[in-house]
Amino acid sequence: MDATVLAGYPGTRQSFWQRVGRAGRGKTDSLSVFVPESDAIDQYILDNPDYLMDENIEDAVVDISNNSVFAKHILCASSERPLTEEDAKWFGPRERLERAIDMWEATGQMVGDLTRGAQYNGTARPQSDISMYATTDEQYRVKQVDGEIDMEPLDKERVYREYYPGALVLYDGDQYEVQRVVEDTYNPYVELEATSTRNYTQAIHDKSVRDIEVDRSYDLGDGYQLCAGMGTVHINYSAYNVIDIYSGEVTEAMLPIDLDPISLRTQLMWIAFPPRIIEQVMQEIPEDSLIQPKEDSGFAPMGEQEYTLAGGLHGGEHGMIKMAPLELRLDNSDMGGLSIIRHPELGQPAWFIHDAVEGGVGFSHSIYENFEAVAQRTLERIEGCSCGRDVGCPACLMSSQCGNQNEPLHRPAASSLLRAALGKIREEQ
Ligand SMILES: [Zn+2]
Ligand SMILES: [Zn+2]
Repeated sequence: MDATVLAGYPGTRQSFWQRVGRAGRGKTDSLSVFVPESDAIDQYILDNPDYLMDENIEDAVVDISNNSVFAKHILCASSERPLTEEDAKWFGPRERLERAIDMWEATGQMVGDLTRGAQYNGTARPQSDISMYATTDEQYRVKQVDGEIDMEPLDKERVYREYYPGALVLYDGDQYEVQRVVEDTYNPYVELEATSTRNYTQAIHDKSVRDIEVDRSYDLGDGYQLCAGMGTVHINYSAYNVIDIYSGEVTEAMLPIDLDPISLRTQLMWIAFPPRIIEQVMQEIPEDSLIQPKEDSGFAPMGEQEYTLAGGLHGGEHGMIKMAPLELRLDNSDMGGLSIIRHPELGQPAWFIHDAVEGGVGFSHSIYENFEAVAQRTLERIEGCSCGRDVGCPACLMSSQCGNQNEPLHRPAASSLLRAALGKIREEQ
């Protein structure tokens, strides 16, 4: 093969080079063309091609302190090779490993013990039924009414977020419409029907983060706090919009979603700013770029300064979730965020990034650990974006996963907040 064309960044440096490397084996010359998509990561790479030359591999993130994730990894490992005493060094402590083995033996899915070797005893390969980040046993199977679809089971949170009745979903390049979510049965499932439209759907939700508990924190001084911990995320998916892919116009608005609200106790990280940050941000951004809430929106009581600050917090939250895969190997579709001008428990402006699965799998905590690097890349993208718009665009701040219809967003305010946070971190070092 002499040439490759790569449509869109595949998510990691390693798979980028693996794909590009299919052309020109040995000493022959070859050509590879990278065609970026219009999202933030692809555009970042276009502006910073040196990123691809960096030899560090993104850190893989999976936190096996979550018992459910741990147990499922054990099951998969035991189907590769019997587990023995030796494996306690990877999956220890020993008592915890034994408890997981006992549990799988009781369900008939494993046989043996650590002395003789504990082995998988199921039928098909367990890997094909277990999603890497599955944390609950409440897995929804996916069926197709007019054909056969071979898709991994979905977590409840994912079903509520992306597979509500009426949702348009893409799988393997084909489009489907969700017909039903059947939950009042022992084996819940989602029913899809093949379709072909020029639309996509976006769910609208109300979200709150409560009962936050700090595990680790970093006091940056002057009221700035960087924290990682646990919290309860309540999400109510209330409606969805149907949007034209090509024009971005909403073709059908606020169609109701008939699903109960969900709550998850999960891992999160947040950055809290001092309340007087609003004055600093206002000094740094041009006065004529302030934005106003729409009269009929939930933001209506806010003045334009507060609304613009809210747009900066929301933009910082979106940007960091979007750019995290440049530093960390994680699935940012299993993450969510919340930005708020005064969190009731913190009493401060803040943005939160949370894992979108019960118990968490280490995603948001890894952003806490790598906050400076992720925030720096986010700032570069936001300031480098050629859209030039205060409200940003899909290549910088807008997210197709946003539950607030991407409102408000404010690019200069987001830059100002990220700069302030990075300045504090660097002062502390
Ligand atoms: Zn932009
Ligand atoms: Zn959002």
